[in-house]
Amino acid sequence: MSKTMLHDLIPRPLRVVATGKRLPVGVLRTIYVPSELRRHGDELISSFHYFGNVLRPVDTESADIILALDGTLAAEGWKIGIGSAAIQLCGGSPAGVFYAVTAMKQLLALGYARGSETAFLDGGTIEDKPRFAWRGLMLDSVRHFQSKDKIKEVIRLIADWRLNVFHWHLTDSQGLRLPFTRVPVSADPCYTRADLAEIAAAAAEHHVRIVPELDMPGHSNALLCHFPQYACDPAHPGAEFCLGNPEARAFLKTLLDEMMEFFPDSPIIHLGGDEADMTSWSNCPKCRAALQHAGLSQMRELENQFMNEMTRSVIAGGRRPMVWCTEAVHPADTLVQAWQSILEIHRTHPHGNQMVNSVHYSCYFDYPADSTEPRLAWMPELPEESVYQSFEPFAETLDRLCGTEACLWTEIVPEWRVLPKVAARLAAFAETAWIQPEDKDWHDFQRRKKQLEAVGYGNLLQA
Ligand SMILES: [Zn+2]
Repeated sequence: MSKTMLHDLIPRPLRVVATGKRLPVGVLRTIYVPSELRRHGDELISSFHYFGNVLRPVDTESADIILALDGTLAAEGWKIGIGSAAIQLCGGSPAGVFYAVTAMKQLLALGYARGSETAFLDGGTIEDKPRFAWRGLMLDSVRHFQSKDKIKEVIRLIADWRLNVFHWHLTDSQGLRLPFTRVPVSADPCYTRADLAEIAAAAAEHHVRIVPELDMPGHSNALLCHFPQYACDPAHPGAEFCLGNPEARAFLKTLLDEMMEFFPDSPIIHLGGDEADMTSWSNCPKCRAALQHAGLSQMRELENQFMNEMTRSVIAGGRRPMVWCTEAVHPADTLVQAWQSILEIHRTHPHGNQMVNSVHYSCYFDYPADSTEPRLAWMPELPEESVYQSFEPFAETLDRLCGTEACLWTEIVPEWRVLPKVAARLAAFAETAWIQPEDKDWHDFQRRKKQLEAVGYGNLLQA
């Protein structure tokens, strides 16, 4: 049988069985939504409304469209059944139902392509579930700040492509975006507690978890400008916290505690831990004394001990720590994020820390997609095809791999370019994060992407 619109979805579903029949969308008049799925029902109703079809909510399961939970499906799994006059959307959890609704939006865009008079849906069944539990996007809100509304737009966009993690880089040498009570108010833009609560609510609505990041002990010049006493040399605070100053450690723990208050629903707290320069530590009497006192010989080991103390503080707060992968070895319950190579974690953590892939040559969205985009001289190109093709984890890392996360660092990405930068390669990334490797097919992906573009799916997402 020739392909149907059920074969045009992104991410490509696991199983599609087409009946060869068609359902004229105009016959769909009523919808039944159980109360716990109300939000997702409302989203589906507005998508139909976008195309001019007004659905009437009813209290009977004999409605034309039904949303339901189905305990036989995987938690994020979903199923759509399109009969001759009715549609069922099921999920293993509310998240699964939400993903069925996202798929339905694509089907509606395809079905309404010629107008509402002739709009139809191909009949059949689609059954799907994700390969990875961790499908993320990291956004750097320090190098360039984005407004609360822009952050919510980004979250809605990634959720429509079925990503479920928003990793939020909130501190760096160039600024602080969290309203820490101990940090004096400065001229820099910063999210308020109310902003954070509003963003967290928007994320929860879209089944997206926020992973906030407080980067330490490096990338910290902004904090150290306010608190030079916690740097090795207060006259020249630099970007690294002093490892030999117990008060600096105590101070960072109070910030971590407050960050956990800002994000009460975030089970994972990211501590950065990347790219700390050792020069100031090597020249610092306090750091050298701490090294000797700990019986260590390398500053990297002292940094490791510092990071372990910080991760324990996160665990004491009832959360799970996460770090960027460095040479440091972390306790087994720390999640480690690879950015240089997927094998680096395997090397440095032989005892099985779980990990997330963000290897730069397939995940760094700040890299230009082609020669027309602005770039820093050292940046390689990351075309969409490389996002799609170049991530395939080594077999020995698979049982430890929670998933994959794209990263948008914003040194040269102002707020107004964030959405276009994310959107351009997001579909390719989302398919890589969602589908089984044997189902990947670059040419078929391109066909589906062009198809969805041609029928205006992108505009539906922005509506
Ligand atoms: Zn020091």
